[in-house]
Amino acid sequence: MLRTYPPKEDNDCIDLFEVSTAEEIESSYSAYLTDESRFGQGRAEKIFFPTTEAQVCRILKDMSDKHIPVTVSGGRTGICSGAAPLGGVVVNMERMNRILDIIYEPGKKWSIWVESGVRLSELHAQAEAKEFSLSEEKIAPFISDPATYFYPPDPTEETALIGSTVASNASGARSLYYGSTRDFVLSLKVALTNGEILKIERGEHSLSDDGMFYIIDSKGKEMAFAPPAYTTPEGKSTCGFFSRPNMDIIDLFIGSEGTLGIITAVRLTLVKKPALILAGLSFFQEESHAISFVLEAKANLTPLSLEYFDTNSLGLFRSQSKEKAMLELPQKANAAIFWEAPSEEENLECIYENWEKALIRHGSSMEDTWAGMEENDWLRLKGFRHNVPESINRIIAGKKAKTPDIHKVSTDMAVPDHHLVAMMDEYKAALQGSGLRYFIFGHIGDNHLHVNIIPDNETELKKAKGIVTSLAQKAISLGGVVSAEHGIGKLKHNLLMLQYGEEGIREMARVKKALDPNLILGRGNIIPLSILDGIL
Ligand SMILES: Cc1cc2nc3c(=O)[nH]c(=O)nc-3n(C[C@H](O)[C@H](O)[C@H](O)COP(=O)(O)OP(=O)(O)OC[C@H]3O[C@@H](n4cnc5c(N)ncnc54)[C@H](O)[C@@H]3O)c2cc1C
Repeated sequence: MLRTYPPKEDNDCIDLFEVSTAEEIESSYSAYLTDESRFGQGRAEKIFFPTTEAQVCRILKDMSDKHIPVTVSGGRTGICSGAAPLGGVVVNMERMNRILDIIYEPGKKWSIWVESGVRLSELHAQAEAKEFSLSEEKIAPFISDPATYFYPPDPTEETALIGSTVASNASGARSLYYGSTRDFVLSLKVALTNGEILKIERGEHSLSDDGMFYIIDSKGKEMAFAPPAYTTPEGKSTCGFFSRPNMDIIDLFIGSEGTLGIITAVRLTLVKKPALILAGLSFFQEESHAISFVLEAKANLTPLSLEYFDTNSLGLFRSQSKEKAMLELPQKANAAIFWEAPSEEENLECIYENWEKALIRHGSSMEDTWAGMEENDWLRLKGFRHNVPESINRIIAGKKAKTPDIHKVSTDMAVPDHHLVAMMDEYKAALQGSGLRYFIFGHIGDNHLHVNIIPDNETELKKAKGIVTSLAQKAISLGGVVSAEHGIGKLKHNLLMLQYGEEGIREMARVKKALDPNLILGRGNIIPLSILDGIL
């Protein structure tokens, strides 16, 4: 049985900063009404910037009592409009950004408590430099540990905030080896709409024998609910609420996209950094060779990451390389794989040879590879990876300026290992000859590619949406998911409906109703309003 408790009262002199006039929101804070999906502009009457847990609790209780919608946001790098409000108020967590504690547990090693608003880039940099802003007494044992530690989840956009990456179960290139954010969350503190805090430690609260979760507030009021009856597929998933037999309640909150509570603090595992990382961007003449190389790398090598770029993605890079004075790609390259391999000084040569042999077997070589081990090489290669989605977003922003209703149509589907080739064939069959401008890139190691389509007009937009629906149906039929890392937000209800059906979504709505009885939090995220308001 879990209990919620009132937050520790903060010092009265800590004022809650809020922006509450329409003029001020429009002139200086309009960026807080949208996210990277650039899907229309949201609406809000107020934007709160809390700095303490007690402030978050007070806002939630007050808004819940008044039935005013609350949208929680972080760095607003999400691409499914989850942080964009549909009215009511916004609670932005960027000012709740302290590092709280660092803990050593024998066997489990180091973990770190951070507030929700710590930026991912700061956590990465401070862990690497062992420079957490903590008291000398707390940080000294960490500094004296000779190993270097890091926090692996890296969803490309380093301006994301930690609490939001947990709320969206973000993952990145190295999730192939390390797993997604979920795998690093040891503890959570969540503010609920009753104005109290729920503290959850992983491993302490799984389902009761009757298949229910029970939470009791400080006044003895019970919140009881069963998780949805569907089972979240194995592998990467950000398809609505997580639900598995014997699940831990902490996993319900991870990936819940601001619909169940506001995450105020998180305890995360830090892991030992590999001594060396050999990284390469290898070019292939045939896309099929790149795919067969991936299959071999997964079977026989130990990749940290395997990222794919199709011929159109390379074309995008080529079109910019001259004007931006970037390295030119080999002329015959029609596909590329970015890969990383962990190694040590002693086995570096052996690892290099193994990757080289695999490349040669699949029509590439180290000569056809931009490889390196230095931080600068890695940053350059990472920049290449980042450049593709960013360039696509820029193109679409340009089109939107002329035709506001046009938007990018993208996929985020993943399938089980043994269906990668079938899904790749499906992408090609659907897109080649469609007349649409498209790009296929991303986390091929996790069988998780992003298809991005840039439509030119309304007719192409409709066609692109139709293709995405049929691709989603295929992914589900292969045991996969319609969203593996970007989430559902306000833009992918139709795909979630294909995944779990209306009943599955109703089951999510019932969980939400138990925790947020007035249905104020994250309205429009995951659960369509037509279903959510139907259960009131
Ligand atoms: C170029 C580019 C590349 C990207 N690549 C990846 C990638 O490889 N992998 C990946 O996973 N994502 C990727 N993303 C998406 C995005 O970076 C991640 O989803 C990230 O986790 C969002 O963090 P944020 O702070 O920007 O959250 P926001 O966009 O502000 O919010 C995201 C969601 O979390 C909810 N939320 C925010 N804070 C809280 C909180 N404290 N408590 C409860 N709910 C909260 C919001 O309501 C919203 O639904 C990419 C985005 C861009 C622009």
